[in-house]
Amino acid sequence: MRLRMNNEYRPYIVYAKRRETPTVVELSLEPQDGVRPDFIPGQFVNISLPEVGPEAKSYTIASTPLDELIVVAVREAGDFSQALCGRKVGEEVLLSEPLGYFYPEDAQTPRVFVAGGIGVMPFVSIARAGSGASTILLYSNRAAHDVPFHAMLSELERENKNFSVKHFITRENSPLHGAVNGRIGPEHLARALQDYPEGNFFLCGSIIFVRDMRLVLKDLFVPEERIYTESFF
Ligand SMILES: Cc1cc2nc3c(=O)[nH]c(=O)nc-3n(C[C@H](O)[C@H](O)[C@H](O)COP(=O)(O)OP(=O)(O)OC[C@H]3O[C@@H](n4cnc5c(N)ncnc54)[C@H](O)[C@@H]3O)c2cc1C
Repeated sequence: MRLRMNNEYRPYIVYAKRRETPTVVELSLEPQDGVRPDFIPGQFVNISLPEVGPEAKSYTIASTPLDELIVVAVREAGDFSQALCGRKVGEEVLLSEPLGYFYPEDAQTPRVFVAGGIGVMPFVSIARAGSGASTILLYSNRAAHDVPFHAMLSELERENKNFSVKHFITRENSPLHGAVNGRIGPEHLARALQDYPEGNFFLCGSIIFVRDMRLVLKDLFVPEERIYTESFF
């Protein structure tokens, strides 16, 4: 599907707001002109907050094309994300058209999703949209109490026998059932490669996280064309 692309920003109103974890806020955004743009799960929008400065920042769409609103989940970090999380219901934000190419190109090929922290967002939208493809999500976070969309992913796992999640908690002994205490390592990616020998790998997180995971996959001789990456910066 080709999507309409332009550089215009359109006004949206914060329709609803919810705290997802201690550091992540979910905002549901309603287009002021009532026309929600088409998008492919995995795409993002650029958001502009003119009073913070001229620079727009990117946020992945967490909702699916069946939803009426554009939903984003924002981890509070610096000035921009804090200002965005501080927007109240009824206030305005400016959004670009949906952008990006980080999504599976077909509905059949098995998928290995590898996420660091808030880098899970493309996978939330893709998993919620559903497909028949066998999918595993390897999902790394620092602490068990701050895992964005843990409950939703568990529910999707229960509903869809083709979808499973493996949690990794890096900074504490995790109380999460079945979680690995530690980082996603070569042994875990090798296992995923063994279980999904025809699978495509999708890596999303910080620049360092994506670089490290990609290097491991290269060491495991996964061909370039089976590795998709998106770095949050
Ligand atoms: C394609 C794309 C999609 C993205 N999607 C999302 C999304 O769905 N949700 C989302 O929250 N972000 C997303 N981002 C990141 C987002 O665009 C911003 O970079 C982020 O919100 C930080 O911006 P900031 O100006 O608030 O902080 P910055 O000024 O960039 O950083 C402020 C300080 O916080 C530190 N910091 C920044 N991020 C983190 C972090 N995650 N954890 C700990 N410390 C940090 C920095 O090192 C710095 O010291 C995406 C980025 C890209 C490129």
